[in-house]
Amino acid sequence: MAQAILTVDLGAITRNWQALAGLSGRAEAGAVVKADCYGLGTERVAPALAAAGARRFFVAEASEGIAVRRAVGPGPEIYVFAGHMAGDASVIAGADLIPLLNAPEQIARHRAALPGHAFGIQFDTGMNRLGIEEADWRALSSDILSANPRLLMSHLACADEPGHAMNASQLAVFRRMTDGLGLPRSFAATGGILLGPEYHFDITRPGIGLYGGDPFDSAEAVVRLSLPVIQTRTIPAGETVGYGNSWTAPKPSRIATLGAGYADGLIRAMTGKARVWHGSTPCPVVGRVSMDSMGVDVTHLPDTPGALDILCPAQGVDALATMAGTIGYEILTSLGHRYRRDYTGGAR
Ligand SMILES: *Cc1c(COP(=O)(O)O)cnc(C)c1O
Repeated sequence: MAQAILTVDLGAITRNWQALAGLSGRAEAGAVVKADCYGLGTERVAPALAAAGARRFFVAEASEGIAVRRAVGPGPEIYVFAGHMAGDASVIAGADLIPLLNAPEQIARHRAALPGHAFGIQFDTGMNRLGIEEADWRALSSDILSANPRLLMSHLACADEPGHAMNASQLAVFRRMTDGLGLPRSFAATGGILLGPEYHFDITRPGIGLYGGDPFDSAEAVVRLSLPVIQTRTIPAGETVGYGNSWTAPKPSRIATLGAGYADGLIRAMTGKARVWHGSTPCPVVGRVSMDSMGVDVTHLPDTPGALDILCPAQGVDALATMAGTIGYEILTSLGHRYRRDYTGGAR
């Protein structure tokens, strides 16, 4: 086994979706499948979500919608957070996507390029990232509402902090902009689902929780990443490992070199901090993480296994992220393209 293996459990993803759909109460759960399903592979993950019952998918930009449409076939709705950017009309029409228009210019562009084509409206309720501002909406709303938007949505900035005052503040703005219009609304991503029913509206948009990440604490783990041992050596006390001599053996040590590095998304910030696992036994990463390899101290193992795990039941994406000073989202979406990808638990 010379190749690193990323195992994605499609059954865990669908069970996480079902759990978040249950937590969404009376709202329908969509599924956020941007960034190639958070790095796990649209071609396999999106059909599994569709088979579990997801009917509304969300991507970041129009080009991502092509792969999702290919994966789920005709029927399910595919919404685009970036809205309708210049040059997107043929992709939006061709893949039958629904742009979430986020500025007056986008509304004008969409109506000029694709009159009659479905769209939604995205509101800024305080995050100041994407969305129509309240003043613009007041000026435009009657005209836009006559064109029958499919969905009205906004996004929370601090949903992973349930006690944060921003949540209630954004909720109040969203309601002020959309109450009484009688149109389907969407406000909650994973964190917002956990904030409770007043945040759910009609359609929820779970992303990270589907893929096993915080803040959905009870998510089932979705990924395992096993790194092959490509060489092992014993070094005397005082010798160093890796670029820059950043680690010096305090005693005679057995060092395994694993065949994956920062080019595979195992970022250099893991240097000196991350651990890999042999079952339930941790082994420290020693020396700098290189592009294609990293050193691990395996002195304490009875013998050196053929592979060690960097993502496994003992160490999920958030645990690894914390060691590297980042978040689970970034670990997942950085997973590299050299891994053999095995999918388990799927329908096909
Ligand atoms: C990424 C994203 C989501 C999904 O968020 P998670 O925290 O991954 O659940 C939902 N809505 C918007 C607008 C997003 O950008």
